[in-house]
Amino acid sequence: MLRRMKTRALFFLSLLVLPLSAFAEAKVRVSSFSTILTEIAQQVGGERVAVTAHVKPGVDPHEYEPKPTDLKTVGDAQVILLSAKHMEGYVAKLKESTGTKGTLLEVGDGFSSLKLKPEAGHEGHAHASEEDPHWWHSITNMVKATKIVRDAFSKASPADAALFADNAAKYLAKLDALQKWTRAELAKLPRDQRKLVTSHDAFQYFAKENGFTIYAIEGFSSADQPSSKKVADIIAVIKAQGVKAIFTESIKNPKVLTEITRETGAKVGGELYADGLGDGAAATYEGMYKHNVSTLVDALK
Ligand SMILES: [Zn+2]
Repeated sequence: MLRRMKTRALFFLSLLVLPLSAFAEAKVRVSSFSTILTEIAQQVGGERVAVTAHVKPGVDPHEYEPKPTDLKTVGDAQVILLSAKHMEGYVAKLKESTGTKGTLLEVGDGFSSLKLKPEAGHEGHAHASEEDPHWWHSITNMVKATKIVRDAFSKASPADAALFADNAAKYLAKLDALQKWTRAELAKLPRDQRKLVTSHDAFQYFAKENGFTIYAIEGFSSADQPSSKKVADIIAVIKAQGVKAIFTESIKNPKVLTEITRETGAKVGGELYADGLGDGAAATYEGMYKHNVSTLVDALK
């Protein structure tokens, strides 16, 4: 009889303990609006975070707008990750309509801003300011972002701080290796050939870190027909600078492109990933970054 009571007591005790342990195992709920920050969050947080990627790989972050289901998830998140630097025009909407108690982390605001080239203009393009929001093309900024995410996760779940620190250290080592690889690759490219002519002015941070000069082609990423003066201007720049290749992510105007390559002898240098992670080679930050560097070196050397 006594034994049976003991068994019962244990059974009821286990019912009490089960939900408690489940609670202790709860993961940090993270909402990410950047494919780059989603990768950092997953690498740093590992098994201890549950990341909802609102902006999926391949989606244009300039065009993205949160849906009601996104806002619901954000309302329940403990950490909300944003690229910032005016990339997310819906920040106020996130704050207002969710009434979130979570930490809204505007990661990019932690780094100094580089301006987009004023002469490049952004008619027809969704860049909301003259500030270049594509900070992740600087590995130095990626290092800072990793530390910002690590610290936010540790604050949200102090018990996991040691694990987050360990994971972050591993990711930082990867970034360090990528930086060294990049320097070795770009050494193949003399300084006077580091000239980037692109249709999407998204590489100010990359250019500054790696000694490139950018000449952005206006109008190429919009549906508008660039004026003949603009086309003549870019042809003059390519000729004067002796640029060997131009890069365009979205060729909306093949006629103009043909005119430029015919007039200048420059070739089309391939696709650069400007706006975050995508498929295939660009599915990871390392893959995306290596693709961009290799594409530049191959076309410009
Ligand atoms: Zn962009």
